[in-house]
Amino acid sequence: MEAEYTKTTRPDPDSGVYTDYTLSRNTIYCCEKFQAYCKKFPSWSYQVGKFTIVDSITYDGNGQIPIDYCPFCGKRIKYRQRKDQPKKR
Ligand SMILES: [Zn+2]
Repeated sequence: MEAEYTKTTRPDPDSGVYTDYTLSRNTIYCCEKFQAYCKKFPSWSYQVGKFTIVDSITYDGNGQIPIDYCPFCGKRIKYRQRKDQPKKR
């Protein structure tokens, strides 16, 4: 499957720049299981720009590992950045 995302960079008062990655709504999932999983759990990482699975649950959040293959059917997930970013007005 192909995961298309848009990279957005914004000024951040603390660290200077804040980048987040938004998954395209038109993403076609490789299988129904993975699609259902992503609906139930927030598996897209806005910080990394990849799908993740939870590695460990800690007090301050979840430890997440980026994945390159679907955990259900084993198909490769290709990450691609969308070039046509919306123009600022
Ligand atoms: Zn799959």
